[in-house]
Amino acid sequence: MRINEITNWAYGFTVLLTALSGAAFMLSANSANQERIAVEQHLALDGLAKHLALVAEERTDEARLYVIRGHERHFEAFAAKENEERNLEHTIERIKEFGASDEELRVLQSVGAAADALDSTEQAAVAAYRRNDVSGARQLLFGPEHERLQALLLGQVEQFSTLTNARTGQALEVARIRSDWLGLAAKVMLALTAALFLGVLYFILKRRISMPLTRMTGIVRRLANQDYTVDVPIDRRQDEIGDMHQAIQIFRTNGIERDRMDAERRQDQQTKDLILQMMHRLQACQNRQELADIVSRFAPQIFPNLAGHLYVMNDGRTSLFRIGTWLEPQHCSETFAPDACWALRRGHAHISNSAHDDIPCHHLDNHVTAGLCVPLMAQGDTIGLLYFEEREGHQGVNEASRLYLELIAENIGLATANLQLRERLTSLATSDALTGLLNRRSLDEALNHLARDNRDEAVACLMIDIDHFKRFNDNYGHDAGDVVMQHVGQIMRDTVGKAGKVFRFGGEEFTVLLPQATEAQGLELAERLREQIAATPFSHRGRILGSVTISVGAASSPQDGPVTTLVTRADAALFRAKSGGRNRTVAASVYSPAA
Ligand code: GH3
Ligand code: MG
Ligand code: MG
Repeated sequence: MRINEITNWAYGFTVLLTALSGAAFMLSANSANQERIAVEQHLALDGLAKHLALVAEERTDEARLYVIRGHERHFEAFAAKENEERNLEHTIERIKEFGASDEELRVLQSVGAAADALDSTEQAAVAAYRRNDVSGARQLLFGPEHERLQALLLGQVEQFSTLTNARTGQALEVARIRSDWLGLAAKVMLALTAALFLGVLYFILKRRISMPLTRMTGIVRRLANQDYTVDVPIDRRQDEIGDMHQAIQIFRTNGIERDRMDAERRQDQQTKDLILQMMHRLQACQNRQELADIVSRFAPQIFPNLAGHLYVMNDGRTSLFRIGTWLEPQHCSETFAPDACWALRRGHAHISNSAHDDIPCHHLDNHVTAGLCVPLMAQGDTIGLLYFEEREGHQGVNEASRLYLELIAENIGLATANLQLRERLTSLATSDALTGLLNRRSLDEALNHLARDNRDEAVACLMIDIDHFKRFNDNYGHDAGDVVMQHVGQIMRDTVGKAGKVFRFGGEEFTVLLPQATEAQGLELAERLREQIAATPFSHRGRILGSVTISVGAASSPQDGPVTTLVTRADAALFRAKSGGRNRTVAASVYSPAA
């Protein structure tokens, strides 16, 4: 019940009780009034009878004095008293109005009759006296009959007095008891009113207001300090305190929701910051390994719930191979054909899961709970794949994180494409288009690097020239010459391997740099090269071209001279090899053919 309702009910009861106690007081007062009236009636009736007896006695006295003394004044007094007696008797006739009972009326009538009888006797005595019958008059006034009538009158008056006393006494008692009861009832109701007022005051102030308010104050203070762990007890009261309780509940719920949204916003901002940081680094990376390293470091920070792999397409576009991994995914192959992935086939992100809601990719095993493949695209080409896998016991990919994943994939795709472009440009700038070998510019850079930074490091240099290549061109055509040039370049690359670098110096001339090699080691490799090429027969479009030979000049640094003169010295040795008859190797240090 609402406090307002309780207050209204209490107010109503208080007014009712106050009205009842007021009515009781009024009835009590009325009862006291009746008591007073009863006393007055008693006094009036009692006085009336006694007055009548007294007047009768005075008349008797006046009549007796008249018959004894004969004075006229006594006769006149006797006659005057008769009027007074008549008035009294007239009053007695209206005595019913005073509430007299029938018994009292009957006795009072006897009083009147006795008074009349006495009066008749005395009238007769006075008449006798006035006829000079003095003895008869005296006989009538002092005789036994007169005495009997006088005694009867006094007895009747006494009986009347007794009756009125009894009746008025009873009425008095009833009025007093009723007055006492009504007074008591009024007092009880007043006490009840006061108790109700105090009770309601206690109940409302203490139980319904003060205690809940104290409790709520503590709760509100903790909520104000953003302590939403505070327990707000469920209070289903339908009053103002209940309303406040509900408001606090709503305040707490809103606070928790605001906190959750703040946390989400912070988390989202952190995710965005990390993605931005990753993008900046991706743009600055110089090779695939750096790119893979960056993705493998940032991806688990951005999506701690997802393990993953980064794949790139091989040059032949026949398979994808893994270049980066994080948080140990369990269900995806290390390499696979592009066709094995539905995301790559469709060019859109694809989810595979154990529930098989959608068709699963073939590069995943059957146990994957949820795997997301996002193709890496650049300029319309698929260049790789970003794979994410839900970690066991962690929440998977929601719509928001999927958008971020696609954004990341887009950026990794662009970065990969940039790298490929960069690699292609670098390759164009540093290698020869026909043979794929490093070009003259690369040779200059390598020599400069050696001269600048590794002055004391041993390095051997071979200058190689194909013998009579012009004649080859002339005989078989320029295209056949190009094919031979490519094959010679490939043989050199395979033979030198990791021991050094092969450059196309220009035309049909090549240079080999062998770091940490002596001239003797250079000579040894040159001989192997020369023998390998000489032993290789070439063909072009089904036509046997025969074989070619090479002449080689070898020099070394720093033993036989500085790096700056390395190529010149090797070239001079080559010149010696040519002039010595070709198809041979000459060391710059000795200027003598090795074979
Ligand atoms: P030598 O033994 O004295 O070196 O004789 P040579 O004919 O090899 O030397 P020469 O300097 O007279 O001729 C070099 C020839 O190499 C001229 C040119 O036609 C040929 N040549 C240079 N670059 C290319 C190329 O890229 N493709 C083809 N097919 N031929 C080339
Ligand atoms: Mg030549
Ligand atoms: Mg030449």
